[in-house]
Amino acid sequence: MAMLRGLLRLRLLCGLLGRELSTRRSSSTLDWAGKMSEIKKKIQSVLPGGAWNPLYDTSHLPPEHSDVVIVGGGVLGLSVAYWLKKLEKQRGAIQVLVVERDHTYSRASTGLSVGGIRQQFSLPVNVQLSLFSVDFLRNINDYLAVVDDPPLDPRFNPSGYLLLASEKGAAIMENNVKMQRQEGAKVCLMSPEQLRNKFPWINTEGVALASYGLEGEGWFDPWSLLWGLRRKVQSMGVLFCQGEVTRFVSSSNRMETTNGEEVTLKRIHEVHVKMDHSLEYQPVECAIVINAAGAWSGQVAELAGIGKGPPGTLQGTKLPVEPRKRYVYLWHCPEGPGLETPFIADTSGVYFRREGLGNNYLGGCSPTEEEEPNPGNLEVDHDFFQDKVWPQLAQRVPAFENLKVRRAWAGYYDYNTFDQNGVVGPHPLVVNMYFATGFSGHGLQQAPAVGRAVAEMVLEGHFQTINLSPFLFSRFYLGEKVQEYNIF
Ligand SMILES: Cc1cc2nc3c(=O)[nH]c(=O)nc-3n(C[C@H](O)[C@H](O)[C@H](O)COP(=O)(O)OP(=O)(O)OC[C@H]3O[C@@H](n4cnc5c(N)ncnc54)[C@H](O)[C@@H]3O)c2cc1C
Repeated sequence: MAMLRGLLRLRLLCGLLGRELSTRRSSSTLDWAGKMSEIKKKIQSVLPGGAWNPLYDTSHLPPEHSDVVIVGGGVLGLSVAYWLKKLEKQRGAIQVLVVERDHTYSRASTGLSVGGIRQQFSLPVNVQLSLFSVDFLRNINDYLAVVDDPPLDPRFNPSGYLLLASEKGAAIMENNVKMQRQEGAKVCLMSPEQLRNKFPWINTEGVALASYGLEGEGWFDPWSLLWGLRRKVQSMGVLFCQGEVTRFVSSSNRMETTNGEEVTLKRIHEVHVKMDHSLEYQPVECAIVINAAGAWSGQVAELAGIGKGPPGTLQGTKLPVEPRKRYVYLWHCPEGPGLETPFIADTSGVYFRREGLGNNYLGGCSPTEEEEPNPGNLEVDHDFFQDKVWPQLAQRVPAFENLKVRRAWAGYYDYNTFDQNGVVGPHPLVVNMYFATGFSGHGLQQAPAVGRAVAEMVLEGHFQTINLSPFLFSRFYLGEKVQEYNIF
């Protein structure tokens, strides 16, 4: 780690020097660009069909060097970019490039999520992450305001989460709530009778206990956070490039561990970015790579050789993150519950929440392992609603007997098949690749805190505010699960 930090310092220095050069270069580039534009105008004025452009525009290309390259410009990649710039010791010290292959985010998880935020997790570390993130959302303009731009409104609905437990899950729920309160979350337990009094539209059959978030829980607009981060990091000097990371060029070093095992340490020197609608790629020299490629981060890790080694070895251990398709259905129910409706997670695994003010609701249910749909496309299975979701909804809220599905979509969970939790921090062998991925359905709400943790690790070599060492990659090799049970 000391070696890595030393190298990073050196690279940052090189980055600084490089930037001085590039600043000088950019002023001459400005003169050059001005002259070229005059020449172009002259050529166009004398030629018929004025759209002819004899000179190649390179403004869409990434820079030749960047201290940090972030693969993936979703909420996690942008949050890492934000915190790197926010925590850098000297303004402009670190050059950060975000490579995103689709600037419309049409398949990215962030925009397809349902925007929930809660502290009702089974692991203390997840409670801590979400507590910080809700504070970030509440004060979003203290963090993400940009001079002369309108303030952000994340449209936070503080309606709480309501988790329902059967007889079998009641004791676990009680323990979880105790832990959540110790961590500072405002959550209360409710008996079925209390539940009926507060939410008379719920059928409490099969419910032994409920836990209800009194503060800091509900849902918000994922796009506001995404665009707010994007706008802010651009104002902080982060560069963006539309293209796909297709290759890493690295050097290797053979080393022996204390127990005599031979390992190969790798360091990425260059990231190849395939430009949009082109066969061309651009090499970008870098010191650090952040793998924030969401559901595709397992594939990006493979590009760096992660998991390509003999089975059972650290080298042969894959990043166990893959796309898992999840459906969201939006329905209208004229007699449905009103404005006080929380984000409900039923004993059956079905969840729903209110959407807007017109008796619309959205929700869904994670399939079982056997039912996992083919992730090859984002088509919606409407039978899944009829067969798996609706019966449970109508059982829990009898008013939902009469509803009309108005819309539906599918998105990918960035699913960690090992223990459904995030993967954060550096890879032990590919020493300058850092992860911010694998949150399996709760990555949106934790992005503000995770970005900060990754930036701390990159800049200081250790986690400073929230100890995320349980989320290090090494757990996959060691077989140490940090299972999060409250995943819907
Ligand atoms: C239906 C659904 C509901 C959800 N509900 C919630 C919720 O209520 N609360 C919550 O907290 N979370 C929720 N989530 C999970 C949450 O959306 C994700 O955990 C989070 O958005 C992950 O953010 P990300 O930036 O890692 O991924 P993404 O938003 O997917 O961004 C990753 C980006 O990487 C880019 N990329 C991938 N490979 C490359 C490459 N090689 N080169 C360049 N770019 C690349 C992709 O184009 C993509 O834009 C939900 C997810 C889904 C699908």
